[in-house]
Amino acid sequence: MIEPVYLAAPDRYEKMEYRRAGKSGIRLPLLSLGLWQNFGSHSPFQESKKILHYAFDRGICHFDLANNYGPEYGTAEETFGRVMASSFRPHRDELFISTKAGYDMWPGPYGNWGSRKYLTASLDQSLKRMNLDYVDIFYTHRMDPETPVEETMQALVDIVRQGKALYAGISRYSRERGLEAARYLAEHDVPCLLFQDRYNILDRNIREKGIIDMTVEENAGLVVFSPLQQGLLTGRYLNGIPKDSRMARNQSLKQSVLTPELTAALQGLDTLAQKRGQTLAQMSLSWLMHDPRVTSVIVGASSVAQLQDNLQAMACQAFSQEELAEIDRLSALHWIRQYP
Ligand code: NDP
Repeated sequence: MIEPVYLAAPDRYEKMEYRRAGKSGIRLPLLSLGLWQNFGSHSPFQESKKILHYAFDRGICHFDLANNYGPEYGTAEETFGRVMASSFRPHRDELFISTKAGYDMWPGPYGNWGSRKYLTASLDQSLKRMNLDYVDIFYTHRMDPETPVEETMQALVDIVRQGKALYAGISRYSRERGLEAARYLAEHDVPCLLFQDRYNILDRNIREKGIIDMTVEENAGLVVFSPLQQGLLTGRYLNGIPKDSRMARNQSLKQSVLTPELTAALQGLDTLAQKRGQTLAQMSLSWLMHDPRVTSVIVGASSVAQLQDNLQAMACQAFSQEELAEIDRLSALHWIRQYP
């Protein structure tokens, strides 16, 4: 069957707010789309493509990937590469595409963590899978406790110099190592312009550990992931565990976290969201957007309907002091204290 040609919505940039990443030329959509789950070979390609088209038509021009996104590893990049070839190619210069390396990807000593060899080989593989000549930003996906930070950062510098990435970023670094990394990059004229970390109503570690302050001090942008705590901060789990949900798979989101106490807290948050005229997902995203230090919120979605719901969060970013205090009161007992 011949597929209809994709024509991007002409008004796509009128619907989105863009925030500047620190003091840089990068301007990201306030809501970005992440392809960690739901875009790999286990998900129907046509549905993934629909979500990607829908996102771009609404001004989401930032897509966040990594070598190991899928499942299976690598297949989210392959899906993106297919959509790149079939629909997004004429829009390449409008897109801000990221990928990362830092978690287990292939066997042996060079398929994980932060060595120069791993990062360089991984990005070459990612570019092939995504049908790209370069990515807009390449991240070291996590801090490597054993490889010297200088080696990892020099690999990023060289990747940028080779034109395989336009910018370098770091994800999930402690404040101390993040500052070291940023210093090295700045000294080599490849400033670290984006820090990526987890932040949401239930997980405020980056605020407590000074990571958010660090992004401001470094004049960099802050891109936050798992803004819905993988779906917990939505209406999904208010009445049990739906069969088609991430928690039903019991992998990255364990069923054991859903205690009666947490369910009660989520129901309280849902009631507050309704008073604000929002869904729980929307309120959780608006809560992040309310913080001007957040450059972009990378959300995941398993359907167009979810993304449609999430996009509406932008319309209601203001919170009263009472609402903020109520969110703190309802969620405080469940704040995730472990770091990272
Ligand atoms: P979220 O916290 O946004 O969770 C996404 C999940 O929430 C969806 O898959 C869906 O679950 C559910 N959901 C989303 N919107 C709605 C809605 N409106 N109503 C009901 N349920 C909804 O984010 P992720 O954990 O997926 O992370 C987002 C992105 O962040 C990733 O794709 C990745 O790009 C990035 N990331 C980066 C990491 C890093 O180390 N740098 C680590 C983790 C993520 P369901 O599938 O059950 O329908």
